[in-house]
Order: sequence, then C-alpha cells, then structure tokens
Amino acid sequence: MTADDLDSRELLNEVRALRSELSQLRRDGVCASDADDHRYRAVVDNVVDGIITIAQDGRIESFNPAAARIFGYEPEEVIGRNVNALMPEPYHDEHAGYIDSYLQTGRAHIIGIGREVTGRRKDGTEFPMDLAVGEFVVAGRTKFTGVVRDITRRKQLEEQLLQAQKMESVGQLAGGVAHDFNNQLGIILFDVDMLLAATDDEATRGDLQKIRKTVLRAADLTRQLLVFSRRQRMEPQILDLNQHLVELRKMMTRLLGEDVDIRLELTDDPCTIEADPGNLDQVLINLCVNARDAMPEGGILRIATDNVLIDETYIREHSCGVPGHYCRLTVTDEGHGMEESVRARIFEPFFTTKDTGKGTGLGLSVVYGIIETHKGWITVDSKPDLGTRFQIFLPALGDAPDADPDRHPAASTAQGRGEAILLIEDDSELRQRLVRILTTSGYRVSECADLAGARRVFGQGVFDLVLSDVVLPDGRGPDFCLDLLDTHPELHVIFLTGYSDGRGNSDRMEQSGCPVLRKPVGVAELLEQVRRTLDGS
Ligand code: ADP
Ligand code: MG
Repeated sequence: MTADDLDSRELLNEVRALRSELSQLRRDGVCASDADDHRYRAVVDNVVDGIITIAQDGRIESFNPAAARIFGYEPEEVIGRNVNALMPEPYHDEHAGYIDSYLQTGRAHIIGIGREVTGRRKDGTEFPMDLAVGEFVVAGRTKFTGVVRDITRRKQLEEQLLQAQKMESVGQLAGGVAHDFNNQLGIILFDVDMLLAATDDEATRGDLQKIRKTVLRAADLTRQLLVFSRRQRMEPQILDLNQHLVELRKMMTRLLGEDVDIRLELTDDPCTIEADPGNLDQVLINLCVNARDAMPEGGILRIATDNVLIDETYIREHSCGVPGHYCRLTVTDEGHGMEESVRARIFEPFFTTKDTGKGTGLGLSVVYGIIETHKGWITVDSKPDLGTRFQIFLPALGDAPDADPDRHPAASTAQGRGEAILLIEDDSELRQRLVRILTTSGYRVSECADLAGARRVFGQGVFDLVLSDVVLPDGRGPDFCLDLLDTHPELHVIFLTGYSDGRGNSDRMEQSGCPVLRKPVGVAELLEQVRRTLDGS
C-alpha cells in the first residue's frame, strides 16, 4: 500500500464517521433538515448583504454571491484562505486578537451589529463596510458568520450632506454680514455723491472720486459674498459659452500676464446655456487667477468646452450630478496641485493656503455658489506637482442663443416734477439720505421705517410711487407693495434691496415686473430709475 492509499482510506473513514454524526444530529433536531437547508441556501444566495462563515482559525468556509459581488472574488478563490484577505493590513492583528480573546474568555467583543470597518477588494481597493458578526457551533466547534454591507455610497452621501450643511451655514453668516455691510456702503456712497454734487474744487472732487471708487470695490467684495450665499439676484441670459470665452480671452491675457499661456480648446458644437454673464466671468476669473497662482513660473492654462450627456453611471461613479445634457467647461493648469487635505476644503469660504494679503479664500466658494445657482456642479481633480483640473457642468439649452435684449436703456432726465413718493426703509441713516436726495431732486417724500407706518401714511395721502426696502422689521416690502398694486394699479413701485432672499417672495417680486435697485446704489442710478419708473419706460 502507498502512503496515498493510506491517506484516502483514512479520509474515507472520516467521511463515514461524519455522515453518521450528521444523521444523528439531524435525528436530534440539532442540525437542519434538507428542507431547512434549501431554505437557508435560498436566503443566503439572494440577500444583498455579503455573508461569510469562517472557522476558528480564520479560514473562510463559505462565501455567498453578494460577498463575491462586494469583494470581487469568486467563492472558490477565497474559500480556504484566511479572512485577512478581505481586510487591509492594520485589521489583521486586530482581527486575530478578537478571535483569540473570544476563544479564551468566551466573551464576544466582535459579536453584534454594525461595527464599521474597512474592507479590501480583490483589486486592492479599500472601502467602508458595516460588519455584523455572529457565532454558531457545529459538532462542538465554534464558527463565525460575518454579515457585510458595503457602505461606500452611504458614506459619500453623508459627506456631501455635511459639506452642504457647512456651506449653508457659513453662507448664511457671510450673507448676513455682507448685507449689513452693504447698507453701510450705501450710506457712504450717497454722502460722497452729495459732496461731489456740492463742490467745484477739483482737488476735493478728485479725492471724493477716489473714495467713491474704493466704496464700489468694497461693494464688489460684498457682492461676491452675497453671490456665494445666494442672496444676490441673478440676471440670467441665454448665451453661447464658446463665444463668451472668446470674448473674455483678451481680458484674461491681461489679467494673468504673459507667463501664462492660455489655450482655448472649444468644441465646434454650440454650447448654449442660460447664465448670468457677470457671474460666469467671475467663475472664470477666479479659476484662472488660482491657476496662475499655482504656476508662479508660468505654464499652460487650458480652457476647454464640450457637450456631455450625464447618465446614471456618471452619477454613481462621481456621486454628483443630475441626468441630462450639459455643457462642460474644463480649466486645467500645470501648477503645483494640491494635497488631498487641501482639495477637500477648497470650496469653504475663507479657506486659503496663500499668505495673508494674497488670498481671501473666497474665490472658489463664490464659484461654488454661482454654479449651484445655475443648477450645475463643479468637480476637481488634483495631485501634488501634477496640476489641477476643474470641471464645471452647466445645463445645456441646445438652441442657438437669442439676440441679447438691450439691458441698458438710455438715461432720462432724472429730476422730479413734484411727484409724491412713499419711502419705506428701516435703516434710519440710509432713509435720511434717500429723503434728502429725492427732496432736493424735486420729489415730495413721506418716509416710514416699517410696514405699519407705511400703511398709516399711505392711507393719508395720494402717492405716485412707493420706494420700498425688501426686508422690514414687521414683514416684507414686496408683500405690502404688491397688495397695494392690486387695489391701486396706477401706482409705481421700486424695490430697494441688499439681496433677494426667500425664493417665493423674490419670485413674486420678479413676476411683478417692478424694478429692483440693489444696494449700494449711487445717486444717479437712483434718480434715473425713479424717473424711468414714473415715466413708465
Ligand atoms: P484663494 O485663492 O484666495 O486662496 P480660493 O477659494 O480661490 O481662495 O482657493 C482656495 C485654495 O484652493 C487656495 O488657497 C489654494 O490652496 C487652492 N487652489 C485653488 N485653485 C488651485 C489650483 N488651480 N491649483 C492649486 N491649488 C489651488
Ligand atoms: Mg482664489
């Protein structure tokens, strides 16, 4: 007899012994009948969670189809291997320790639901999973079951939600500050304009012009904050993205300097989108300035467009987006790139890696806000030293852009002819100035600081125009004014606002067709708008 024969005889004996043990166990009801067996098989084969059983020594004994899907192994590839194959290195000792301690103490540290651990797929990629461990005994031997759920998608969604909430709250804060700040700027602007009108001295006028410019620059900064917090009114137009980029190129070249080689790689197909052109410029400027900063020695900056169809596969892979046709704007630089820790935070307002005085950390948060209001999204790929690529997706309209309607009607003579204006503004400083400007320009003005006052005053006189702030201490200007318009159709209304918050109301406001002046507003702009509105033009 050979050694092999001996082995197989022993094996055969062992199988016989196990068979009789099994039938004994079935008779005792300890072991499942064939019917039970089929039932459990069907369950195990069809659940969405991975189910794995392992022996005491950590060897995998069974591996259901869901486990195969999750880990990318066929059952026969892992059965017999140590369960460590399914976990990254740091978990190996920990896992062995759990089993040892269980066997020694009988206390099950790992038994239970929903421990969050990291799994490793066949291709080496790691992923988060929920792991519930149970134990069972067969023929006196303890075995373990692991029920595994891939929670990659859930984690992504959680992270997105967290990010969105963070952006939301910072946006609210920034928007609130910017709004109040805007009012103050409005006051300064009025004062400067009044002084400018009252003085002929050239030197003083020069100084005043400088102050005026600075105020407008500050207003631009608050406008960025308001855009980010989505409190700024958008004025979308139908435009061709390619054409817009071609027009912007000259300005970009000047802005970025000659060390940056701007290359436009535009698709021949039309890229028609609905966007606020000013906002779009801001997006591009912010991205391009960042690219320049990332390439201090200069380099190539590519700005590309194409049309893409976003489907469920894209959304699953990138965990962002909404299905449909999109114009994609890609901005790629060859700069120093980013570490993951930086990349994760770039859209946060005030997050900057630049020196004080150089970076505000607002650029990308503004980009983010703008793209969101345009119902699009932005992604970023970057590696240290390998450059950065931003991709922006904006809903494609498909049609050719309409001719741009004239958005800048000519100025009219801006003086009043004794018309009566009801002014509703709660900021007393701003109100005083408005009264002064309007009165000196030939209007009769009645002022009030809230809606209760406005109701009273309106009932006592006849008015040609109501000039109203939007957010007032006791309600919203538009609600009051638009109700007035229902009963007094001959009345004119102008809104004066720091922002258009509250979607519902701003919709109603917009639909009403009443002009909206944004703070801070200059004297000329105010007077021209009042005149135009009264003239019905
Ligand atoms: P700021 O430019 O004022 O720092 P941003 O919001 O525009 O603020 O950008 C935030 C940060 O994102 C930058 O400080 C920088 O670290 C990083 N960043 C943005 N764009 C790039 C880029 N193209 N390459 C490398 N890093 C970038
Ligand atoms: Mg920037």
